[in-house]
Amino acid sequence: MNDVLYFNGRWTNTGERLLGVEDRGFQFGDAIYEVFKFLQRRPIFLADHYRRMDHGLREIDIPNPWSEDDFSAIIDELLGRTQFADGIVYVQVSRGESERTHFYPQGMKPTALAYTRSFRFPDAARKERGIRVVTTPDLRWKHCDVKSVNLLPNALAKKRAQSAKAEEALLVDDGIVREGASSSFFAVRGGRVITHPLDEHILPGVVRDRVIGLAIGAKIRVDERPLRETELLVLDEAFITSTTMGVMPVTELDGRVIGNSRGGEITNRLQQLFDALELSEVSAAHGPIA
Ligand code: PLP
Repeated sequence: MNDVLYFNGRWTNTGERLLGVEDRGFQFGDAIYEVFKFLQRRPIFLADHYRRMDHGLREIDIPNPWSEDDFSAIIDELLGRTQFADGIVYVQVSRGESERTHFYPQGMKPTALAYTRSFRFPDAARKERGIRVVTTPDLRWKHCDVKSVNLLPNALAKKRAQSAKAEEALLVDDGIVREGASSSFFAVRGGRVITHPLDEHILPGVVRDRVIGLAIGAKIRVDERPLRETELLVLDEAFITSTTMGVMPVTELDGRVIGNSRGGEITNRLQQLFDALELSEVSAAHGPIA
């Protein structure tokens, strides 16, 4: 369904065809993106997403078109104009448009856009049921901390998962479990939560960071360390995190049932804490939800 679109300083609709064929985002994947959630037209963890976008733009030498205040004002207007109460905002900034050549000229004007989409976030039944996951080789580049639009390896991994009747692919590189194709991955063993440390092999997930904070606050021990693929055979619990899925139990991994095919105790606790945190973001902006 078409909805409001901000494109390079003007307001239009996603039905309008706007992008030049020589935009470098289109031809070179020379762009970064962000996805964040909104509930009751309030953005969730907006500052975290802005920070990550700013970091990504710096890393690939694209000037950020927005100060944090400008960005926040545009998002406010976008969420004032959208027809949806809840959904996601997709933001993309490319280096811009110029005659196709690998060398990019200095002083290009970035192509900056943001639009809303409706989204069916998982309901209580789905959150309890969890998801199936399969492992697959990580074929991505060596700078996965940048949220670049080069998502072909992720899309192929997802398709593999779908063919195996799973919902997420777990990317394994050099015997190490990195993360999901579009999510962060957590294992639970002996009462401890284990997740990959922040480095060039994974995206610094906004939800990952919040969930680690919640776990520490709840006195659950968190080990940020590489997890060997062989450790997947001896897990007590596992879950993924992402903006669209929140905290989602992994109940089957490469065809093996984990736990009792429902989320385990620690996963469920973190899921509840995270759901409450998201709602508190909305009520902090709004006053309590009726
Ligand atoms: N890792 C990858 C590769 C992703 O694409 C995503 C989300 O799209 C995540 C992790 C989760 O990040 P976030 O929690 O910020 O949504």
